[in-house]
Amino acid sequence: MSGLETIPVTELKGVGSAVAEKLAKLNIYSLQDLIFHLPIRYQDRTKVVPIGRLRLGDEVVIEGDVIGCEVVMGKRRSLLCRVKDHSGTLILRFFHFTAGQKKQLESGKSIRCFGEVKRGSFGYEMFHPEYSLADEFTTTTESAQLTPTYPLTEGLTQIKMRSFCEQALERVTPYNVIEWLPESIRHQFQLPPLVDSIHYLHKPPAEADTELLASGKHPAQFRLSFEELLAHQLSLISKKQKAKLERAPIIEEEGAFLEKLIASLPFQPTKAQQRVFQEIMLDLSSGHPMLRLVQGDVGSGKTLVAAMSAATFIEKKRQVAIMAPTEILAEQHFNNFKQWFEPLGVEVAWLVGKLKGNARASQLESIANGSALIVVGTHALFQDSVHFKNLSLAIIDEQHRFGVHQRMALRAKGIDGKLQPHQLIMTATPIPRTLAMSAYADLDCSIIDELPPGRTPVTTIAVSDQRRHEVMERVKVACNDGKQAYWVCTLVEESEALQCQAAEDTAIRLSEALSELSIGLIHGRLKPQEKAEIMGQFKQGNIQLLVATTVIEVGVDVPNASLMVIENPERLGLAQLHQLRGRVGRGQAASHCVLLYKTPLSQHGKVRLGIIRETSDGFKIAEKDLEIRGPGELLGSRQTGLMEFKVADLQRDKAMLEQVQSAALLIHQSHHEHIEPLLSRWLPVQQDYLNV
Ligand code: ADP
Ligand code: MG
Repeated sequence: MSGLETIPVTELKGVGSAVAEKLAKLNIYSLQDLIFHLPIRYQDRTKVVPIGRLRLGDEVVIEGDVIGCEVVMGKRRSLLCRVKDHSGTLILRFFHFTAGQKKQLESGKSIRCFGEVKRGSFGYEMFHPEYSLADEFTTTTESAQLTPTYPLTEGLTQIKMRSFCEQALERVTPYNVIEWLPESIRHQFQLPPLVDSIHYLHKPPAEADTELLASGKHPAQFRLSFEELLAHQLSLISKKQKAKLERAPIIEEEGAFLEKLIASLPFQPTKAQQRVFQEIMLDLSSGHPMLRLVQGDVGSGKTLVAAMSAATFIEKKRQVAIMAPTEILAEQHFNNFKQWFEPLGVEVAWLVGKLKGNARASQLESIANGSALIVVGTHALFQDSVHFKNLSLAIIDEQHRFGVHQRMALRAKGIDGKLQPHQLIMTATPIPRTLAMSAYADLDCSIIDELPPGRTPVTTIAVSDQRRHEVMERVKVACNDGKQAYWVCTLVEESEALQCQAAEDTAIRLSEALSELSIGLIHGRLKPQEKAEIMGQFKQGNIQLLVATTVIEVGVDVPNASLMVIENPERLGLAQLHQLRGRVGRGQAASHCVLLYKTPLSQHGKVRLGIIRETSDGFKIAEKDLEIRGPGELLGSRQTGLMEFKVADLQRDKAMLEQVQSAALLIHQSHHEHIEPLLSRWLPVQQDYLNV
């Protein structure tokens, strides 16, 4: 007997091609899709409520006799029908009605209605209730179970959807909806049987705990979410294992080159940097491609770990690519790597989209003939025209912006058919644990959990922009005291052009008010040389106050800058604010960040600024960001397919992730034959991205 996933919805009564198209909008194609299309809430039609006991907002069934019916002309013409039972009377109000309806309702019959109790001009009313008429109602209830309310799309009604789901449910058997979770696992994690859970959720019994159901934490819901998250976890584990089967260059020794690099630094790597580097070395010696994510808070020194890893490849004359999500960040990496590696005689190539003509041709040449051992760039690196001689390590500064496919495209530029390059992924902001355990479970993860010494914590305060002049005064005092400051202008919703305009205007106003200071301006519309020139001036201390757009969010590193003013911080995401603030607190002086917000501040804005003020721990901030914005937005394009769940909700279900992880490992070890069916049940569109 074949599974319900093979039976198209068109087999159901009432589903023709037009309805099937509408169902497709909800990703419902088969009967299996219907049974996993769960209600969002439930109505209680199991009992008839006496009219005298109605409360405002109740959605209930009432029953009574029609005692009058008339058309009234108030603000809108409407049909009013008065219903009476032993405990009181209630008005039914219809704005749209037919003459036939009016006649029917005058009949003096008994009526049973379902609707929401609202306040009308004559006491409680129901607007457009569902109703049926009879001489007398014989059954005492309309339904023995709670009535499901399903997510819909335009052109479908609840009544139709209920009928489709009900028809699909009638065909469910243990043979066409197979229990793929082994008894031992169900027992260990207290999971009710699959088929029972499905029936329960579509038709809960009258006594079901509706509050528990509304919270999404009923055992039946837990069971389905668990299985779905488990399937995702299994797919990531399989992908990871498959990738590990490939061959990659072996690097067993750190080599003299790394020693030279470290010797040239004005500081020592921190313990955390060394530990993470050792984790990387272990991967590199395995003979299989590394797929490692390096996390660390702003300023924890991820770039150096990347450079140390690169050095071990340089030793072997193997090429390393560094890919950044934006040009300004790529430029920052380019400068860093040039500064570290050129004195050691290594050619560093540079490739971004706008590099054209001869300059581009010569870079492509160096990359192809292998004279450039380090190549820094943006996504321009994986264009077809780019050929590496022996790309062996791809370092990706991800910032949640690259999709899996882009990473894979770079990997495809690997050495030859047999050897794959290693991959090191750095995230610009920490990833909340929930996401690390789900969306990033295909990667091994290292955490740099220590900041370089000498950093001073940043004191953050929020000030209303009505006190702007005080803030300006503060900037003046700091700069006159030999310190440097940033003034960040933000306008996230509007265009980049507007943002630059705002920065220009602010720079003019500040120059007028603080005429004795030397003020610079930097934004995204400046040419790269202009930007470099201004950043250079700021670094040397010739510019005291730098007015900037959020282009300085990443990469910029000027230790003497110890004051940052952020305008309209209430409009930025938490991660972005944290990144921005990470530009100060890099030197010896006590640093300050002033959040110059616009009044009135929304409740949301208050909460967000409060979080930023209270903590400077990027991991905590990332957790809060996830709570506020949800996984979809946080991840951007990355693996969005992987984050679309039928029944699970990462935020709601995050507490079960650890159990899901251990269940996945158990199944991987002992029930391998269940993996494939679970994947095909929950991940119908297999994106086999590791084979791109
Ligand atoms: P992020 O992790 O945010 O990418 P970076 O790699 O940009 O951080 O490093 C931030 C700054 O810290 C840089 O100026 C870098 O040179 C410096 N740095 C990195 N490692 C150390 C260290 N071990 N000791 C002192 N400074 C360091
Ligand atoms: Mg960085």
